[in-house]
Amino acid sequence: MYDPISTRYTFPCPVHGEARVRLHDFRELDRLPGAAHPAVFRVRYACSCGDDHLGLVAHDDLDWAPLGLQAGMFLNLMTDRLEPVQDEFGDLAARRIGAGEWPWSFFCYPEERPRPVFPSMFWLLAPGTAAGSIGLAVRCPACLRLSINIVSAEHVDVPFHNDAAVGVVEHVFAGDALNTIEEFESELYSASFDARRLKLH
Ligand SMILES: [Zn+2]
Ligand SMILES: [Zn+2]
Repeated sequence: MYDPISTRYTFPCPVHGEARVRLHDFRELDRLPGAAHPAVFRVRYACSCGDDHLGLVAHDDLDWAPLGLQAGMFLNLMTDRLEPVQDEFGDLAARRIGAGEWPWSFFCYPEERPRPVFPSMFWLLAPGTAAGSIGLAVRCPACLRLSINIVSAEHVDVPFHNDAAVGVVEHVFAGDALNTIEEFESELYSASFDARRLKLH
């Protein structure tokens, strides 16, 4: 499902049979009601065939697999043995989080502060106006309000890669604003952005 080496998810594609997509290719994440252990998300993703498709991702695959906490084997060049990726990546992730580094972060505009976050709190993603940038609508895990940040693709795809500064849409959204992708995209293309530093500590 998720490969931590290539940082890609594998999904079905009706044209190519299989699509390998990164987190920044996700367009919309929807937590399905019902399933709780683990929670399951319906994901719409932009496929290399040119269409968007729907797929299902378990909560673990969204938030923990990119940290290597659920993965296969890798060749350890020190011991020349195949070893579980989980040990190597998992320990490292645990140490970095323990040291105050966060795998993902965003700038919460209503609170005017950076916050740690996990991909399961991402809601909508779309290419930003600047080349290679990604517009990201995030529901804040602390205040539950919505912010739109403009980030790099790596900021989304690569755990512990946090942009030094991100673009922030200066708008406090009402509870149910942004009902549609179209509203999100028009916000993304028309809004004024301000740069905010993303230093968590
Ligand atoms: Zn496809
Ligand atoms: Zn917040």
